[in-house]
Amino acid sequence: MSGEDDYDVVVVGGGPGGYAAALYGASAGLRIALVEGGTVGGTCLNRGCIPAKALLHTAEVYRTATRAADFGVITDGTFTTDWARVAKRTTGIVDKLVGGLTGLIKKRKVELVTGHARLTDSGAVLVDGAQLRGRAVILATGSAPRTIPGFEFEDERIVSSDHSTRSSSLPDRVAVIGGGVIGSEFASMFTDIGVQTTLLEALPGGVLPTGPEPELAQTLRRALLGRGTTIHAGVKVNPPEKSSSGIVLGFQGNGESVKIEVDQVLVAVGRGPRSEDMGLADAGVRVTDKGFIDVDTATMATSRPGVYAVGDVVDTCGLAHIAYAEAIVAIKAILGERPLPIDYARIPWVVYTHPEVAWAGYTEAGAKAAGYDVVVHKHKFAGNGRAMIIGDTDGMVKVVAQRDGPILGVHIVGPWASELLAESYLAVNWQALPEEVGAFIHPHPSLSEAVGETMLALTGRSLHG
Ligand SMILES: Cc1cc2nc3c(=O)[nH]c(=O)nc-3n(C[C@H](O)[C@H](O)[C@H](O)COP(=O)(O)OP(=O)(O)OC[C@H]3O[C@@H](n4cnc5c(N)ncnc54)[C@H](O)[C@@H]3O)c2cc1C
Repeated sequence: MSGEDDYDVVVVGGGPGGYAAALYGASAGLRIALVEGGTVGGTCLNRGCIPAKALLHTAEVYRTATRAADFGVITDGTFTTDWARVAKRTTGIVDKLVGGLTGLIKKRKVELVTGHARLTDSGAVLVDGAQLRGRAVILATGSAPRTIPGFEFEDERIVSSDHSTRSSSLPDRVAVIGGGVIGSEFASMFTDIGVQTTLLEALPGGVLPTGPEPELAQTLRRALLGRGTTIHAGVKVNPPEKSSSGIVLGFQGNGESVKIEVDQVLVAVGRGPRSEDMGLADAGVRVTDKGFIDVDTATMATSRPGVYAVGDVVDTCGLAHIAYAEAIVAIKAILGERPLPIDYARIPWVVYTHPEVAWAGYTEAGAKAAGYDVVVHKHKFAGNGRAMIIGDTDGMVKVVAQRDGPILGVHIVGPWASELLAESYLAVNWQALPEEVGAFIHPHPSLSEAVGETMLALTGRSLHG
C-alpha cells in the first residue's frame, strides 16, 4: 500500500454494507480499497446473524430431540447439550464464511487494508498514517450493542449479544433485557435449550412490541410462555446487584415490585451507530443527534459530496440485507446510474425465534391509518398437511390487501416463515393482486400452500381456507 494509491472507491468497514459495496463495485469494474479494523464479515458474520442463527438451529435440534417419541423415534436415556461443541460448530461456520468472503474479496481484486480508518478534511481516508484517495468514499462502519445505565458489560455476568453469540458456556438462569428481535431470538434459544429464562421488556406485550402485526407477536409470546419463558412486560429494571450465588435483578411495573436472581443478564436494548473517532465533523459529514450518518436514501449520499454511507451506521433498518441493498444503491449512484430507491416500508423482516415471524409491507392497522380500504384473510397452519408432518402447526399467514386492489402486506408466524416470506415479499413489492398469486400453483404438500390458500380465499372462493 503506498500513500499515493488511487481508487475509484474507498470503502470503510468490511461488514455486509462495506463488503457488498466492494464486491458489487468490483464486479462493475471499479477499483476498490476496503478498510477493515477487525475481521471482514463485520457484526453479521462474526457476532450477529450467522452465529445467532446457528445457535437457534441447535435449539431446534434439541427441541425436536425432546419430542422424538412423537415421531416414533425412541431414544433410551437422557440427552444434553455440550455447549463447547456448539460453540465449535458455530465458529466453524463463521470461519468458513469469513474465509470464503476473504477469498472472494481477493478474487475480485479488491485491496483489503487492515486498520482503523479516519476521514480527513480533504476527503482522503487515513489508515495508520497512510492516505487512501478515492473518487468516492463509502462509510459502512456499522453499529455496536447499546446498554443502559448500571448495566456496564462485564465478563460472563452482564453481557451483550457479542458475548452470547460466541460463548462456549451456558448460564443456568438468564435474564434477557429487551424483547425486540435480538432479545426475543435469544429468549427463544435459551428457553429451548433448557436455560431458565426471564424476558424483561419496558413496553406492553413483552415480545416484539414494535414492528410486526400484533397477532404475530402474540402468537410468539404464547408459544414462549408455553415452553417456559417467564415474560414481564411494561417493567422498569433497576441496576443489578451482585449476590454470593448470582445477580439480583429488581424491576417494577404493573403494580408489582419483583426481585429475581440469575447467573447472567443479557442486555438487548438495541444497537448504536459507530460514527465516532472517524473525523466526520471536520470532513463535513453531517451526523444526526443520535450519531447516525445523515444520508439521502435515494443515493446514500452524505452531506459531503463524494462521500456515501450505508448499513447500520445510517438510520434505516439495522438489517444485513438492507445494508447489501444500500451498498448497491451507493455504487450505482457513484457509477452515475439511477438506482432504484429502496422502499423501506416494504422490506422483508424475519425473526428467527420458534415459531419464526416474518413479514413485508403494511400491517392491517398501518394500512388503515394510511387511508386504504382493506380486506384481510388469515389461514392457520393447523390444517396444513406439511405442518402436521413436521409436527409444527402453531401459527398463521395473514394477508392485508386493498379492497379490489393489490396486496399491501403479508405476515407469517409459524414453521419456516423465514423461507416462506420470499414469495410474499415479491407479491407485496410487485403490488400483485391476491387473485394473481392465488392462481399460481403451490406444491402439495408444502407449507407454502398456506400462502396460496390465503390469497385464493381473498378472491371470495377457496379450497381449504
Ligand atoms: C445478535 C445479532 C443477530 C442479528 N441477526 C440478523 C439477521 O438475522 N438478519 C439480519 O439481516 N441482520 C441481523 N443482524 C444485524 C446485522 O448484523 C447488521 O445489520 C449488519 O451487520 C450491518 O452491517 P454493516 O456493514 O452496516 O455493519 P457491521 O456488520 O457492524 O460492520 C461494520 C464493520 O466496520 C468495521 N469498522 C468500524 N469502524 C471502522 C473504522 N473506523 N475503520 C475500519 N473499520 C471499521 C467494524 O470492525 C465492522 O467489521 C443481527 C445483529 C446481531 C447483533
